[in-house]
Amino acid sequence: MLNIVLFGPPGAGKGTQSQSLIEKYSLVHLSTGDILRAEITGGTELGKYAKQIMDKGDLVPDEVVIQMISNKIDANLAAKGFIFDGFPRTIPQAQALDEMLAQKGTQISCMISLTVPEDELVSRLLKRGQTSGRADDNETAIRNRFNEYMMKTLPVASFYQNQNKLYQIDGVGSLDSIFDRIEGILSHFSA
Ligand code: AMP
Repeated sequence: MLNIVLFGPPGAGKGTQSQSLIEKYSLVHLSTGDILRAEITGGTELGKYAKQIMDKGDLVPDEVVIQMISNKIDANLAAKGFIFDGFPRTIPQAQALDEMLAQKGTQISCMISLTVPEDELVSRLLKRGQTSGRADDNETAIRNRFNEYMMKTLPVASFYQNQNKLYQIDGVGSLDSIFDRIEGILSHFSA
């Protein structure tokens, strides 16, 4: 299996690059943000609970997102692999993911981390906020999302670096040029 963690701060382009990756590699895209937003749209209890946390830009508790991902992996056992987008965002999530995949006899192939300067991230997110309808694409929530990223999520890169699985690429440029950089890394891995 080809199991990729697409990593980076809010606004780095993880969702956009995931779309190109699933088309080319036929992988199952698992975005915890997308799954949570679908719960909100569906008006479920989980959605109602998550919305008040997400609107502030805080992280949803580990056990909630771990269970969500576990269900999705179990529902896609025949997959050629997964793109994890926005997950894992904490060390406990990363540990849980390693365990889940080991139980299925597989593992993370690599983490691809998109590097983008903070002023570029803020301008991308504010621009997205004009059309995304996302309640967390405003200045206060964006600041909090960056804080959460720095404090809880950034250590996840070291977690994969310790396993020699971290690949950093420049996340600035045209979508195609960034995709080329990702493909350059993925050419070393097979599904
Ligand atoms: P995203 O679409 O990845 O930017 O995620 C939007 C929001 O969903 C985040 O700011 C969090 O509130 C929540 N969220 C998404 N993924 C996770 C995760 N892995 N752990 C905790 N909260 C998450």
